[in-house]
Amino acid sequence: MDLAFKKLEKAATPFKAYSGLRTFEEQNELWAEGRDADGTVVDKDKLVTKAKGGQSMHNYGLAVDSAPLKDPKDPNGNVWWPDPDVSTIWSSLHAAVVTAAREIDEGDSWDGIDYEWGGIWRFRDVPHVQVRTTLGELQAGQYPYCHDVDWLVKAHTTFLFDTPWMLRRVQYLLNMQSYPCGAVDGVLGKRSAEALNEFQADQKLDVEKPGDSVSPAPAGGHWAIDEQTVERLVRLDHEGMSLTRGTLPGDLLPPDDWSL
Ligand SMILES: [Zn+2]
Repeated sequence: MDLAFKKLEKAATPFKAYSGLRTFEEQNELWAEGRDADGTVVDKDKLVTKAKGGQSMHNYGLAVDSAPLKDPKDPNGNVWWPDPDVSTIWSSLHAAVVTAAREIDEGDSWDGIDYEWGGIWRFRDVPHVQVRTTLGELQAGQYPYCHDVDWLVKAHTTFLFDTPWMLRRVQYLLNMQSYPCGAVDGVLGKRSAEALNEFQADQKLDVEKPGDSVSPAPAGGHWAIDEQTVERLVRLDHEGMSLTRGTLPGDLLPPDDWSL
């Protein structure tokens, strides 16, 4: 999404994408606005978001906020905020964003991915467009398919790498590679560690010795893992998805009891 909108920004469109990727930390900072140290709302007018780090699609590079430009020729790109109750400009903008994203995506990055506009949500978010996925899917370690594997690797080894989400992602990817971790729960267990060690040994990854990349999880259950392992997992998963995409027979689906 971020990639698509970098290109989109250069296109001659009368709107501006003003917010794309937000790290988990940046999201937590936004969430803290209008709240005290305990998270209690102290100033309703200053509230920015209900989403903490990891709860917004922005944190995964899958969302962008944009607004219409006051004047398309304005070099400063000042945006304006028509009242969404009376103006249809936001829904036109949404349509333009989605059309542009689909054009850019054609054979390039996202494939078969649908986009969703925040303007139809109960808590209306008119500037927001995201790749159609759910927090539940992300929490289960899934991530939308993208043609561009190098972008996926980069996303996983940069802004997503040092997040509590990464353990879930690694568990999911290990499960998909037939190194069962059990439930994708983001918690380091014996089974996950063994699966990781086995994968690293089989892949002859240059880890000092299997297991060295696993460190005891600090509060929150984050598991230290190395970038090389993540990259190998992402590339193998992408290969598999490219081959089986849309044609995955039932007997190749992971058994249900993996969650036990
Ligand atoms: Zn947004």
